[in-house]
Amino acid sequence: SEQRTQERKKPNILITGTPGTGKTTLSQLASESTDLFHINVGELVKEKSLHQGFDHEFQSWILDDDKLVDELEETLSNGGNIVDFHSCEVFPERWFDLVLVLRTDNTILFDRLKDRGYSQKKITENIDSEIFQVILEEARESYPAEIVVELRSNTIEDMQSNVTRIEEWAHKYSCFANQ
Ligand code: ADP
Ligand code: MN
Repeated sequence: SEQRTQERKKPNILITGTPGTGKTTLSQLASESTDLFHINVGELVKEKSLHQGFDHEFQSWILDDDKLVDELEETLSNGGNIVDFHSCEVFPERWFDLVLVLRTDNTILFDRLKDRGYSQKKITENIDSEIFQVILEEARESYPAEIVVELRSNTIEDMQSNVTRIEEWAHKYSCFANQ
């Protein structure tokens, strides 16, 4: 909305989706072709220990929501960021001007996760999550409908058109933002 736009000269974009849908690849490319800064939240959580230990059953870090939000608050309130994370409900709604949810077909996602060396259990969990649109629903529950956009991420062509779309959108944002 207009009010959001006026708060920040540069936008904050959240790129979310099931693991393997291409968040980090897209975020890096989009960051290179805009003046937006890529924040890989998964890496940040490990680096700065923004977690409450490792969950061996789920083979993942148990996120410390408060620590994560505190860590990012200043950077995000300045604007100009692409936030890359496989979940989206932990962040305050006010941080983002655009929320992109990447979507990948099952068979393609399966191959990507297998290439990554994920266990069968973890592959199944993630494929199920993609089939049931868990992250898309989470995004729709956490952010205003008009800023949540689903993007297909099956092929390199999809990737390129997604980069272009982000570039154009970021450009428009800066044109309308208060200088
Ligand atoms: P995420 O960060 O969502 O877990 P990555 O960006 O690490 O996903 O991508 C997972 C793998 O899939 C990488 O090998 C990447 O090169 C590949 N990939 C991602 N998006 C696409 C796409 N749109 N088309 C083809 N390959 C892709
Ligand atoms: Mn990633």
